[in-house]
Amino acid sequence: MALINLLIPPACLACNQKLRSNQKYLCSECSGKVRGALSGDCPKCGSLCEDGICHHCRDLGFSFEFARSALQYKDPLPDMVHAMKYRGMRSVGGFLADKMAEAAKDYPPFEEYTDVVAIPLHPVRKRERGFNQSEVIARRLAKHLDKNYLDCVVRKRYTRSQTTLERDARLNNLSGAFVVRKPAKVKGKNLILVDDVFTTGSTLNEVSRALYAAGAAKVAGYTATRA
Ligand SMILES: [Zn+2]
Ligand SMILES: [Zn+2]
Repeated sequence: MALINLLIPPACLACNQKLRSNQKYLCSECSGKVRGALSGDCPKCGSLCEDGICHHCRDLGFSFEFARSALQYKDPLPDMVHAMKYRGMRSVGGFLADKMAEAAKDYPPFEEYTDVVAIPLHPVRKRERGFNQSEVIARRLAKHLDKNYLDCVVRKRYTRSQTTLERDARLNNLSGAFVVRKPAKVKGKNLILVDDVFTTGSTLNEVSRALYAAGAAKVAGYTATRA
């Protein structure tokens, strides 16, 4: 994977324009389009489209305390996330973690959280991809925020790709898919659960439920981007 990256001349991940030596991943035009998403409108899930508690939170009652995202999943972020997940560009996870750490400093509620947990990939998919992008992001974020990275959740079922399913089916598709391997490690702890993209919140919801069942005191979601 790393070799492939070395052979491709550095070009902007979004518009393919050749990069200057002081630019990484994005040209200045595309990096100027990056928009923050931390100050979401819904106090619970951080949704950007409504005032007050959004209809997803009203209808579903997410299990996590709150969820926030650092960046909007708009041009150029979809291309960056795609490069990371499907073109083997693991290091893009570091870029996302840096942005998340920067944004988190303006969000005091994260301060009482001591440990960072990644949404796990099924071992088969992890083998295919070579790494778990959420883990790459979570490990670096933990280091930046001076918190402990905790490896404690496994995905035991190989679920269908979430993107092909309707909303209700997505929620059912994940039920019971995650298991906390060492409950003693999460007992009484405040955990930040990390993923790359917040779409419906169903993955965060399901893993957070498993963590609460294992004895976690509080679970908050923090994703790099927000669809
Ligand atoms: Zn560009
Ligand atoms: Zn909401």
